[in-house]
Amino acid sequence: MSLSPWSIALLIAASSVVALADDTRISSVKRPPVEKRNPFYVSNREPLLPSPLIKLPIGAIRPGGWLRRSLEIEAAGLTGHLTEISRFCNAEGNAWLSRDGQGHSGWEELPYWLKGFADLGYVLGDQRINTESRKWIEGILSSQREDGWFGPRSNVGKDGKPDLWPNMLALNCLQSYFEHTGDKRVLDFMTKYFRWQLALPEADMLPGSWQKIRAGDNLESIHWLYNRTGDAWLLELGRKIHARTADWTGGIASWHGVNICQGFREPAVFYVQARDEKFLQAAVRNYETVIGMYGQAPGGMFGADENCRPGFRDPRQGAETCSIVEFMHSFEMLLKFTGDPLWADRCEQVALNSFPPSQPPDQKGLHYLTAANETVLDSKNHSPGIQNGGCMLAYDPRSYRCCQHNISHGWPYYAEEMWLATPDAGLCASLYAASEVEAKVGDGTTVRIAEATAYPADETVTFTVSTPKAVRFPLYLRIPEWCRGATVSLNGKPLDAKAAPLSYLVIERTWADGDKVVLELPMHLAVKVWESNQNAVSISRGPLEFSLKIGEKWTRYGGTDDWPAQEVHPTTPWNYGLEIDPKNPDASVQVVKKEWAIAPYPFAFEAAPVELRAKARKIPEWTLDRHGLVAVLQPSPVRTTEPVETVTLVPMGWARLRIAAFPQASASPDANKWAEVPKAAYVATASYCHPGDTVESLSDGFLPRNSGDHGIPRFTLWDHKGTAEWAAYRFPKPRTLSWSDVYWFDDTGRGGCRIPASWRLLYKDGDQWKPVTPAGGSTYGTARDTFNKVAFEPVTTGEVRLEVNLQPSVSGGILEWRVGPAEAK
Ligand SMILES: [Zn+2]
Repeated sequence: MSLSPWSIALLIAASSVVALADDTRISSVKRPPVEKRNPFYVSNREPLLPSPLIKLPIGAIRPGGWLRRSLEIEAAGLTGHLTEISRFCNAEGNAWLSRDGQGHSGWEELPYWLKGFADLGYVLGDQRINTESRKWIEGILSSQREDGWFGPRSNVGKDGKPDLWPNMLALNCLQSYFEHTGDKRVLDFMTKYFRWQLALPEADMLPGSWQKIRAGDNLESIHWLYNRTGDAWLLELGRKIHARTADWTGGIASWHGVNICQGFREPAVFYVQARDEKFLQAAVRNYETVIGMYGQAPGGMFGADENCRPGFRDPRQGAETCSIVEFMHSFEMLLKFTGDPLWADRCEQVALNSFPPSQPPDQKGLHYLTAANETVLDSKNHSPGIQNGGCMLAYDPRSYRCCQHNISHGWPYYAEEMWLATPDAGLCASLYAASEVEAKVGDGTTVRIAEATAYPADETVTFTVSTPKAVRFPLYLRIPEWCRGATVSLNGKPLDAKAAPLSYLVIERTWADGDKVVLELPMHLAVKVWESNQNAVSISRGPLEFSLKIGEKWTRYGGTDDWPAQEVHPTTPWNYGLEIDPKNPDASVQVVKKEWAIAPYPFAFEAAPVELRAKARKIPEWTLDRHGLVAVLQPSPVRTTEPVETVTLVPMGWARLRIAAFPQASASPDANKWAEVPKAAYVATASYCHPGDTVESLSDGFLPRNSGDHGIPRFTLWDHKGTAEWAAYRFPKPRTLSWSDVYWFDDTGRGGCRIPASWRLLYKDGDQWKPVTPAGGSTYGTARDTFNKVAFEPVTTGEVRLEVNLQPSVSGGILEWRVGPAEAK
């Protein structure tokens, strides 16, 4: 090892290191100052608001520890091999690779995958991935039409208007590629594309749907290009795009989960251009609105098992995997726009608690929905407890089409944002994990800083500076909101630093080679009471939130040996309430630290690096409900006289089966009795049901607005056409019935379901099915947009059947089917 003169001086003067600290200035700031401009890295150009934090070129940060391991697993897992699994990523005849845009193509899938896959290669320096991704990048670059538009011609509608949404993702791919390689073709390509956008008639610009809702992404790409070329007309385009984007400034423009996770920040993207605080406030308000209504549970996400649904705010309502990675990405962007460390906290919260369990530990599959309370991951249909029918919870590499591709950018983007440059030519350690950063600082000297830590398992983060010569620059260290009493030392000597939560501790000095900073971020137990979710409680320690440790049984139900589809079932009880004093958790909760074995899989259940031991009692009445989901919480404290047990909790990020929002258990007679979970009034069966729909929806109580209502769960016979079919209700004990009504599903103008040709009702008498006898002139109606009621002579039966004859060559369906007792009129 060769020593720089400075290092030698240091060695000689080892005992006088402290003297070197003479010019050291310690301060604490809410955000980095924006008065200066970082001369080394591209940041916002006038008149855009200056960036308090600036992204470093991709490749400047080398992740280590658990994050590197997670990226390597991703490369060996689903994302790294999606070309072998997803037909949309199959190169053969793919429209994204053809010069004229002809060929097979999905829609958003290929660029969804590519934007994470390519970055994964850049971040890891993985040659196989870089070679593969380059092929697709070249395909995109060569697909540009003369007028500037690009991409598969199948993205052009029948009206000749292209859908801009898939291209927003492709632009992200190109931006990363440029940041990694500096290939100037990207700037020309994007300039030409945005000129084409600018020339669009207003009515053709973001006419509707996803592209209108998610166009904040388009705006971000415009700013990215403006910062590199300075073409003023780009800002005019930016204004137009904002004006044509769905209105997120006035509130939540769409209640679709992924739309929210991307769209909520759109006003903050425009804030940078408009220089008006009201836009930033709108994004903050959007976040708080959604979290306030549907995010009252640990994990940092909100319940939207497709959309947010009124009445579905229990911690069991999951977040889509697309939502998880998009929320992380939004927080990473907001951090750079504002410098507010709260956004980094939020990013860590989601990344460390909600993201890992969206996949099995080997990242060879994924599921659609991750929730705070989720006690079985099976392939059953849980609608309408979950909005979508079909398998949503089991891990499957071949399913969940959007998430399957979009999950790719979760870890790579996270790794790119761990370190950021500051306007005053310094560096900021933002998202903590083992890593090494190489960047220009101060007078332009290139330094390296090695960050050694097992964070989030560990409270200590050690930074070692390597520099060829002495250089003065500020080092910013983020102090999270949960952290009380952070301390820092420099070369073994404690510094007198006031490190308040939600601030940056700044050490500015003339750094010497080998300088070492040790940051201590004490992690204390904290209990959160979720008042609007029945006073449930959850426990956190530092950035980690905790779940009951539930034994897992993994079962393969499909797929292949290499790419299995798997269910996870519990092997131990989960229906516990905690006995805990929320104000003083230390009195009853014990922290047990363990060695974190990051190989082979850092987020494997058995690798959990810290456990809690807490006091709990079982709540015997708390079971699965009739949808096969953990029953919704009831008001705490919950009365239970079951014995007190010591249970183990593990961090949520390691728990795929989880109870993280616990009832508070109490033996006091004043506590609330847990009402028995209502059982199904009927068992519904049918001759057939479309796999995406559910017989459960026949009697789910969601009443339609009209026969074409797509907003509620439904039962359809699609794609059976012109056939005779049936649905039936079986009762636990015989009931006397005298009426029934049915609301037909008819999606004329959109799909192939129509009202039926005819129907009738039968009841079971012994072993025989017999038709009921309509009474009082009643007939079997087939009217749209209303219940069709038939009264009949009372029958007492254990099972009733609705027989239906579909119209020739069309299918049919039912939105709600009710039967009524004899005493009802
Ligand atoms: Zn998705």
